[in-house]
Amino acid sequence: MFPSTIQKLIEIFSKFPTIGPRTAARFVFYLIETPNEKIEELIKSISDLKEKIKICSFCFNSFEPEFFELGKKEKEICPFCSDNSRDKTVVCIVAKEADLEAIEKTKQYKGLYFVLGGMTTGIFNKEKKEEMEQKVDALIERIKKSEPKIKEIILAINSTVEGESVCFWLQRKFKILACAGEGDSVKIVQLGRGLPLGGELEYADEETLSSALENRK
Ligand SMILES: [Zn+2]
Repeated sequence: MFPSTIQKLIEIFSKFPTIGPRTAARFVFYLIETPNEKIEELIKSISDLKEKIKICSFCFNSFEPEFFELGKKEKEICPFCSDNSRDKTVVCIVAKEADLEAIEKTKQYKGLYFVLGGMTTGIFNKEKKEEMEQKVDALIERIKKSEPKIKEIILAINSTVEGESVCFWLQRKFKILACAGEGDSVKIVQLGRGLPLGGELEYADEETLSSALENRK
């Protein structure tokens, strides 16, 4: 057993996505050897994160308002949602920001986004599931009242087992939109084939992702 100060930090790092107790312990021993000024820099970066980064109230993307020099009123809305040159009739649903970045890199997509979140700990995590459910319900209400009318929802979710089950769940939730009356119905599509099965979207190369976007159905 390590001294309690070390043990406590190991437990904190172990809660990070994909980090197990062994890697967490490596981080802690790395920090012990790190000079004080680097530690100060790390502490400041973490507190800046909470202070400066905002979550968009529409799409849940994280952004830094000052960086984009947005007006006071627009501060709660991210640059994608407040950009009038983007196509506001289509929403692309991604699990996390890294997937959004991967799609942006293709330069193929000019619509809106929606960051679902909660997939790093798994959809079956009850706490996260409820959070996702609330977010999706709010999105459905927003789509119903959208102006201009949102006509298409793209599910850009990993083709992993977990991703597939999230897609299935989303399809069921969005059924109410897809089955709305003529002129009001929303097309629900998934990324086309080509993405490696069991593959993670953020690691797909730009060309593969571009063609998956093009061949959505
Ligand atoms: Zn946004």
